[in-house]
Amino acid sequence: MTVRVRIAPSPTGNLHIGTARTAVFNWLFARHHGGKFILRIEDTDTQRSKSEYTENIKSGLTWLNLDWDEGPFFQTQRLDLYRQTIKTLLDQGLAYRCYCTTEELEQMREAQKARNEAPRYDNRHRNLSEEEIAAFESQGRKPVIRFKIDDDRSIIWRDLVRDTVTWKGNDLGGDMVIARKPENEGEEFGQPLYNLAVVADDIEMEITHVIRGEDHIANTAKQILLYEALGAKVPEFAHTPLILNEEGRKLSKRDGVTSVDDFKKLGFVSPAMANYMTLLGWTHPESEELFTLEEAAKHFSLERVNKAGAKFDWKKLDWINSQYLHNIPANELVDLLIPYWTEAGYEFDPIADHPWLEELTQLITPSLTRLSDAANESRLIFGESITFAEDAIALLKEEGVKDIIQGVQTEIENSSGLNEKDTKDIIKQITKTLGVKKGLVMKSLRAGLMGELKGPDLIQSWLLLNQKGWDKLRLQQALNQI
Ligand code: GLU
Repeated sequence: MTVRVRIAPSPTGNLHIGTARTAVFNWLFARHHGGKFILRIEDTDTQRSKSEYTENIKSGLTWLNLDWDEGPFFQTQRLDLYRQTIKTLLDQGLAYRCYCTTEELEQMREAQKARNEAPRYDNRHRNLSEEEIAAFESQGRKPVIRFKIDDDRSIIWRDLVRDTVTWKGNDLGGDMVIARKPENEGEEFGQPLYNLAVVADDIEMEITHVIRGEDHIANTAKQILLYEALGAKVPEFAHTPLILNEEGRKLSKRDGVTSVDDFKKLGFVSPAMANYMTLLGWTHPESEELFTLEEAAKHFSLERVNKAGAKFDWKKLDWINSQYLHNIPANELVDLLIPYWTEAGYEFDPIADHPWLEELTQLITPSLTRLSDAANESRLIFGESITFAEDAIALLKEEGVKDIIQGVQTEIENSSGLNEKDTKDIIKQITKTLGVKKGLVMKSLRAGLMGELKGPDLIQSWLLLNQKGWDKLRLQQALNQI
């Protein structure tokens, strides 16, 4: 048997982090078993589905390196299959037309509420006579199609994550709607609904394992009944835990991040994100925490997926991200940082300044946790003029500092393009001629060049400023403060 799994997002929003994590597990499972990973876009809700979301889903999966082997398939292009499936169920008497009006359904629910019962459809149109049907039709009522659900049934399956799951037929809300009312003249029935379309697709696409979020458990019970009714082999099911926020509630819009794009904008890199998402509910057999998707695929099994919700741990994600960031070569990392410098409003020419930006990247890399940290970490480097912090001004005013700054200034005036040795020689020279401590020279230089007493490596920063000619300008500014 070839393993065939799928990710089936609805394009009603950007690629959601939960969907992306489900995609990761499906991908890992497919790759582990040498199977196929299929992308299906569930766009039957034409009101809420948008092509820009489909694009976002595709680009998000691509960004995470979750390549799919088949698809994308679009449910809106497969309506004939669903219609055919509904017809089969109708012909076999396993589904029927229900003519209830919205008001009747509402009254039914109110009455159930008054009796303290859970709301459900009471299957009242399951056995309509020909005359009753004719009467409803002549009133101009349009029917939905309902699939019969046996209240006395127990639906039991061995979930690959949760072990034995049991659902009672009478907990499924009564006979389920599988197609809406017809909208156009001459149509036998309207838009096919989620559970029907999913089962029709999963059968036709020969899906062997349905791996999806635990919020679909009740759907699984209904879907198993549909598989049985259609005489199809029931696939294996695995329900993955929800992603919870740090308070233990379902990660939601209120947490400020819901889509893969949100994480991308925050400055997480794709291999770190994929790595972290794998850990959201799965543990490596050797408890390793840093691995590529390919490495994880070698060890992946659904038995190691937890039943309990997966708590989102920002600290761990940050740690994983920094590990990846620090290992990206500067000539690649620089291009990932450029958008953040641009956003921060720093002025540079991405082509002409590329070698300089690469050196800057090398300088700040050890302090980066997220790509977005680049803006702050290089704040003191960009620009010919700076704002001096109060403690820097105070230092500049200390005795002897003016001479140091002036001394350095004279040295730079007489040289073109400093290298590391030159800067060190200048510092040595000043220390000697002015008879001051090296520490004071370093501090004065930091205050004069950077405007603050703390920051990235002084010599490397100076070299960057020197290439731009900004060191001279900044030292003059420093002298003006004194
Ligand atoms: N379209 C469904 C969703 O986005 C897919 C559920 C499934 O995998 O069957 O939640």
